[in-house]
Amino acid sequence: MNEFELIDVFFKSMTHHREDVILGIGDDASCLRVPDGMALFVSCDTLVADVHFLPDWDAYDIAFKAVMVNLSDLAAMGAKPAWLTLALTLPEFNSDWLMRYSQGLRDALDRFNLALVGGDTTKGPLSMTLTIHGLAPEGRLVGRHGANPGDKIFVSGELGAAAQAVAFLNQPDVDGAHQQRLMEKLLHPVPRVDLCDHLQQFATAAIDISDGLGADLNHICQASQVGACLAFDQLPIHPLVRHYQAAHSFDFAMKGGDDYELCFTVAPQDEVQFLEMNAQLGLNCTKIGQIQAHPGLWVTYPDGRVRAYPPEGYAHF
Ligand code: ADP
Ligand code: MG
Repeated sequence: MNEFELIDVFFKSMTHHREDVILGIGDDASCLRVPDGMALFVSCDTLVADVHFLPDWDAYDIAFKAVMVNLSDLAAMGAKPAWLTLALTLPEFNSDWLMRYSQGLRDALDRFNLALVGGDTTKGPLSMTLTIHGLAPEGRLVGRHGANPGDKIFVSGELGAAAQAVAFLNQPDVDGAHQQRLMEKLLHPVPRVDLCDHLQQFATAAIDISDGLGADLNHICQASQVGACLAFDQLPIHPLVRHYQAAHSFDFAMKGGDDYELCFTVAPQDEVQFLEMNAQLGLNCTKIGQIQAHPGLWVTYPDGRVRAYPPEGYAHF
């Protein structure tokens, strides 16, 4: 099978249909319709074998996760997913692998009403670059730069499970059911696309947690020129992280990447309304602290003491 047959069989044939795709896969560029009053959001992520995933993982999971990681960035901007391009580099032609990969991709696209509209296919060390395009009403922009002193800091979901799964990758003696629960979080993260509208309504700033809460919240602080103070005992740490990390679970959850939950800030006058909605809709967001004028990342411990916290997370270089 040559490159063009491969594209036809595994990618062109399976694309999710959307009315706003004027021209999809097959030409030199795709043509897409942005509705009046909407702004276009674009975000790109590369996943490299042995860095972001292991080459022996099921190709279904690799494809699925690649899309989820991309979706998470859009969700953090309060934008709804629309279109995706995929630049895929493969070491060899392997029909079974491509079948699993395209199935994972198809399921991810269908689940989030996302159309694959183009890409590139090349030979080389296994890696993939996905560029996602999303839409949100023009005018209000939820970014990293909008946090103000006094804003409440929230985080969605539970933290640390994906990092715990990575820590256990080479430890076969761990409880099988626990390992499976953790691997599920690592392989199939669920991006918080469901929070898009609520971020649009309530968030002054937002970011997705890919490198660890400490490092990612620090990005909000730097972009907004503020500081943050977190309550040590409020962090929603995954129960298995508490179980395995015991006294270290706070640090582990702060530094662990790959959770793809969202961290965002809400103005104090909106806090009550947001909390009511959070409870009503079961959004599973937790208030973990407050933005302050004084720069840096700080933690209030149960004994009342406040200490500076190093904003370390995953960094490639
Ligand atoms: P070009 O030579 O102009 O770069 P290609 O031959 O690389 O075009 O690709 C042919 C068509 O297939 C293009 O429309 C491109 O967007 C699409 N395409 C290539 N690889 C992929 C892929 N992995 N997934 C989706 N679409 C792809
Ligand atoms: Mg090309």
